[in-house]
Amino acid sequence: MQQIKTGQCGLCAHFGEHQPQEQQKLAQIRVSKKAPENMVEQCGHPKHSALHLVVTPISGCEGFMAAR
Ligand code: SF4
Repeated sequence: MQQIKTGQCGLCAHFGEHQPQEQQKLAQIRVSKKAPENMVEQCGHPKHSALHLVVTPISGCEGFMAAR
């Protein structure tokens, strides 16, 4: 498991945003701030989604929006 900090994808509302089947898993990651080492998800940010950008929980960008 890897630790996720504020500003990183694992705590961003856009991380896996358009994968409904992933939402329960993502909610657990946001609470625990921990994610598996091999995890990747598509970024749903409008500027990235057309590119199908895939990121890890510890990636990040200036489009970060804290998930609720
Ligand atoms: S790449 Fe940026 S917008 Fe996409 S999930 Fe990560 S922090 Fe959020």
